[in-house]
Amino acid sequence: MNKRNSCPPVVMVIGGMDPSGGAGLGADIQTLAALGCHAAPVVTALTVQDTTAVKNFQLVELDLIRAQMQAVLDDMKPSVVKTGMLGSGDIVSVVSSMLSQRPDIQIIVDPVLSSNSGSSLSEHSLTKAIIELLLPIATLICPNIPETVALAGTALLDTLDIDECAALLYDADSHCDCLITGTHADSDQVINRYYRKGRKLKEWVWQRLQYEYHGSGCTLASAIAAGIAHGLEMEQALEQAQQFVMDCLQDGFKPGNGQHIPRRLCSETDLKTGI
Ligand code: PLP
Repeated sequence: MNKRNSCPPVVMVIGGMDPSGGAGLGADIQTLAALGCHAAPVVTALTVQDTTAVKNFQLVELDLIRAQMQAVLDDMKPSVVKTGMLGSGDIVSVVSSMLSQRPDIQIIVDPVLSSNSGSSLSEHSLTKAIIELLLPIATLICPNIPETVALAGTALLDTLDIDECAALLYDADSHCDCLITGTHADSDQVINRYYRKGRKLKEWVWQRLQYEYHGSGCTLASAIAAGIAHGLEMEQALEQAQQFVMDCLQDGFKPGNGQHIPRRLCSETDLKTGI
């Protein structure tokens, strides 16, 4: 079939809008487009932020979130859903009750609790709802270290190692894999650890880059979703997604006064405009 007429895999992305374009749904849409998927974005929140900090956010009404999801689910056939900023336990409840009726859809969960600059993007009820409602139906959860600690319910990171936290997240009733990203560790290398059934299967070690990036977690989770939507096995999807993120970060740019933004779309030579 002519590639121009064929339908790319559809991935529903559920998360917040970031007006800086670095993180959130903008990052998801760019990543999925770059990796040959069509993104169907469902908005859960409007944030007010730039590349330095989150200043405010407002959550979208539950009925409106439900209606956005229903519109896409009635019309298209997403094989994968990626969740990002869900903001509150009530939103997790709406999202998970709708998705629990669709076991054919694989769910990649980026458990966004705060921005890379450290500002909160969630209400208190969120972590409990992610654990109780979303993890049991998810395919993969990809927390960073602070998110892992928050989800595992401990503030004692110094005394608990990451493997123990991953084991705490494991629920025998769910089949959710876990990728814990090491971006927030205090080391020269970034170690990303992949667990299945609470046991570590693989580690990837990446050289830490010079800058801080806005939207790297969103880019990673969406790139994993794209790999799964294209039919890759989980380990291969994780590997390719990390390589994609590294390329985007190495090519990143600084459009404002704060963090760098990953360059997710075409490199200069790919530009169709020729400018
Ligand atoms: N989603 C939204 C709407 C955000 O505003 C942010 C961060 O600001 C994130 C997700 C998480 O971003 P990151 O990929 O930098 O962790």
